Amino acid sequence: MTADILTVEGLRKFFTVKRGFPNPKTVTVRALDGVSFTVKQGEAFGLVGESGCGKSTAGRAVLRLIEPDAGTIRFAGQDVHALDQSGLQALRRKMQIVFQDPYASLNPKRLIGKTLAEPMQVHGLAKGKDLDQRVAGLLAEVGLPQEAARRYPHEFSGGQRQRIGIARALSVEPELVIADEPVSALDVSIQAQVLLLLRGLQEKRGLSYVFVSHDLGVVRWFCQAVAVMYLGRIVERGPLPRMFDEPLHPYTQALRGASPVPDPKAKVQMMRIEGEVPSAANPPSGCHFHPRCPHAMERCKAEYPAWKELGQGRGVACHLFDQ
Ligand code: SF4
Repeated sequence: MTADILTVEGLRKFFTVKRGFPNPKTVTVRALDGVSFTVKQGEAFGLVGESGCGKSTAGRAVLRLIEPDAGTIRFAGQDVHALDQSGLQALRRKMQIVFQDPYASLNPKRLIGKTLAEPMQVHGLAKGKDLDQRVAGLLAEVGLPQEAARRYPHEFSGGQRQRIGIARALSVEPELVIADEPVSALDVSIQAQVLLLLRGLQEKRGLSYVFVSHDLGVVRWFCQAVAVMYLGRIVERGPLPRMFDEPLHPYTQALRGASPVPDPKAKVQMMRIEGEVPSAANPPSGCHFHPRCPHAMERCKAEYPAWKELGQGRGVACHLFDQ
């Protein structure tokens, strides 16, 4: 049986922001409202949902780039919040992030070779000739030429910059990578190349991923399991491709129906997802999806559905599955 590398339980993060003009009011945005999931060793676990559902916040809270208000995060059995400063630094080596826009996270005035060398120096992994060799090895591993080390970020295309971002994450030999919309800013043909690179690294290095994306087609191809998020909560979770072929929650059905994947076995009818995503600062009562749900009942307006485990890794939060 495959071990769990990451266990997240009851993760909560509320932000206080000012909204409105000309008389702004302070409102609470419920970015994460009790999010729980588990990632198995070597697995790519997808977090999927529309913009503002909390999926990126969840990924960043796992790394403690955002401090959650409540909940526990265990990495390889270790409570991330119980770590002191040196423990946290060691953990940061094992968990890395790849951003949607690598250009924003690359120092425009720093040579790529230095950008790749720095994390290894900070963590005391290599120096001198060994460091140079490791930089060369990373460039080769992500499919970039050796002379890339002597160039600056602006000299590369978007896809090449994403390869640099991946090489930088790999430089400290992580076990888990949070990939936050890693291909959504790229052209479709480049997306496929970067996804193939990430898949190859998963197999070669035994990497695990938390793969944050709004694109069901990409998640279905890349991930082995997925959680669908809506307004700060997970509404359905399960293994792929089965969960997208036979989605249970009306929101997953709507998302799936709005993102057709050419698959003759898929049993889902095309459908339109009605209405806008409500604000996480003022979520609808009861089940937050009820104003858009074609199956909404009276109780859906008053009562948030409890989470139900259905076996074989599947779970759902919807009153349709109360019996
Ligand atoms: Fe629809 Fe009700 Fe299920 Fe929410 S709980 S998804 S409103 S049927």
